Amino acid sequence: MRVALLSDVHANLVALEAVLAAAGAVDAIWVMGDTVGYGPDPSDVLALLRARRAVMVAGNHDLAAGTGEGLEMFNPHAAAAVRRHRSWLSGEERDVLAALPPTREIGQFTLCHGSLRDPVWEYVVSPLQAQATLRIASTPHCCNGHTHVPAVFRSSGARTTLVRIEAGRPLALDASCLVNPGSVGQPRDGDPDASYAMLDTGAMTVTFRRAPYDVAETQRRIRARGLPPILAERLAVGF
Ligand code: ZN
Repeated sequence: MRVALLSDVHANLVALEAVLAAAGAVDAIWVMGDTVGYGPDPSDVLALLRARRAVMVAGNHDLAAGTGEGLEMFNPHAAAAVRRHRSWLSGEERDVLAALPPTREIGQFTLCHGSLRDPVWEYVVSPLQAQATLRIASTPHCCNGHTHVPAVFRSSGARTTLVRIEAGRPLALDASCLVNPGSVGQPRDGDPDASYAMLDTGAMTVTFRRAPYDVAETQRRIRARGLPPILAERLAVGF
């Protein structure tokens, strides 16, 4: 099965369309949360992912936009965008976001946004954190997002390490792995191109990829919709 691993699309429709076009024919799309928040097109992004029957889990921005709760946990620009999104989304769309599950198990993978210790909020940036999640999991592998930085942590025995990623080169999931495909809509690793990964469940490999997209068009939409200008500016530098 060919699976597109996406996370943190953040209402960036132009980036999502570029990624789906670059990914080509896939058997499934798994989204590790934060479908909305920050960007200009929350309804269109949600509609496109639902139309493609994407499997989604809840991110912090999804729950805040869906329920209106937890906004005190956000920085002022993020909170401003969540409030705008709530006003643009229909009641039905808010209900869909509010009802997203914190985790999903599919075959040999468990999906979450942050971690399995704290599915919505933990930022997994260290091998120790990754190890904690992989130990809790009842599947060999996990996929997460939230940091907006692509990463693979590999755990064999007592040792968990951060694996070096090379874009375009298949990486074998030959031990227990935590795979973060990075962010489609707001990368924070210094590369503004949309980040995603392709999983091959037959060969058990994951391949990280970048898709260039029209950043200026997303920036124009962010400004036109009256969102904080910094949310447009950061896209150009990938932070
Ligand atoms: Zn995010």
